[in-house]
Amino acid sequence: MKIAGFLHDNDINFKLIIDQNEDIESYKYIYISRVFTFTKMPAFYDNATPAQQHKFRCGGTGFYANELNVNIYRQKRHDDMNQLEDDDFLNQYPNHRGGIRAHGIDLARQMPYYHLYDEFVERKVAEGFKREKYKDYQQYSIGFLTRGCIRHCPFCINKLEDKIFPYSDLESFLDNERDEHGRLVRPYIYLWDDNFLAADPSVWRDRLNQLIATGRPFQFRQGLDERMLAESPHGEEMAEMLSRTKYHGDFIFAFDNWRDRPKIEKALKIWKHYNPKKGTKFYLFCGFKQDATEYKKFYKDIWEIFQRIKVLMTYGCVGYLMRHEDCHKSPIPNLYVQIARWCNQQAFYKKMSFWEYTYRNQTYWEQTSGFDVPQEIKSFDEFMRDYESGYYEKEDKRGKVRKICKTLQTLLDTLEMFPEHREELLEMYNYKMQDLINPELWA
Ligand code: SF4
Repeated sequence: MKIAGFLHDNDINFKLIIDQNEDIESYKYIYISRVFTFTKMPAFYDNATPAQQHKFRCGGTGFYANELNVNIYRQKRHDDMNQLEDDDFLNQYPNHRGGIRAHGIDLARQMPYYHLYDEFVERKVAEGFKREKYKDYQQYSIGFLTRGCIRHCPFCINKLEDKIFPYSDLESFLDNERDEHGRLVRPYIYLWDDNFLAADPSVWRDRLNQLIATGRPFQFRQGLDERMLAESPHGEEMAEMLSRTKYHGDFIFAFDNWRDRPKIEKALKIWKHYNPKKGTKFYLFCGFKQDATEYKKFYKDIWEIFQRIKVLMTYGCVGYLMRHEDCHKSPIPNLYVQIARWCNQQAFYKKMSFWEYTYRNQTYWEQTSGFDVPQEIKSFDEFMRDYESGYYEKEDKRGKVRKICKTLQTLLDTLEMFPEHREELLEMYNYKMQDLINPELWA
């Protein structure tokens, strides 16, 4: 969107290529950005003739995020972060956004071109998708107020960063377009900062005041670092300032490592004191470096997911599982899928334990397959009694046999894989927010 903004500033023809099989002959250059390594390249890229290949300029974390050699990673990241500002084509044209650059794109100052996705959205709506699904493309000013991090998380593209630096001024990406009724076309703000609260206090204080002054709802889309509330001498000020903002949706933090529990709990007491009623969500990273033969590692990961969820439930907060793609290599990959389906849907997470969610899947399967279901929800012990008495193998009057649905089978497979942890697993599967929440913790 920023490249499009620069081209637009300079009256250069451009468009977002939507079709996989676009005829690229008439394009001079094609900029391809990729965030995730698992995203496939478009067909027009794969099928390009040797004479067409010089047109492509590719960048983004999706081209190097899984590079394991640190030195190669460092070099690729450096090149990627600088390639647009070093781009020989863009550097032929003037920068209209101020600052010290006379020519070429100044990424921090460049206003995104917010209409870039209009045709794509209209096409999706015409195909029958709800416009609402594409609101991120249409209703938000998007940018980074700061960039960088200090935490060195090994799974993160910021793992080699050592500091946080101010990046764009809010006005560089704040959109003021209005519709025919004078209403803002993009009334919300998304911030993509990596670790805003770990920036110098003068930076986050100033930027938060700027955000508050806009009067627009905003959200730090990548999550905020809750640990800063416990570590920083300004932790209470952060919580108090955020409590005065027009925050859009849930506040999102991250609880990625179980070892951070003491800090997270200390921070939660501060946070909930100032924000007792605000929806608060925590990303829960999991599945990293899993291996089909490493059972202990798998159990530890599952255990840590549920222990983090238990802490969050006691403080009335919701979790959101963020699965690393390595989870597909774990001994029971579907367990991650099922925990995420339960945890990431607040209606399930807030009202049911993981066991209840699992058994409801079984009930749903039985009902939609035409079986009588005299008891819609069962405790694990009730289920086991029926299971051992052959209830799920008996034919009904149609001659059909009930079976165990995939969700329930996955849970049973896990119990079978870890007989020594059976009691502990069952206890974790029965964690329920309404049983665990304890407002005295932040009173
Ligand atoms: S705290 Fe967040 S941004 Fe920083 S290194 Fe860890 S995952 Fe990345």
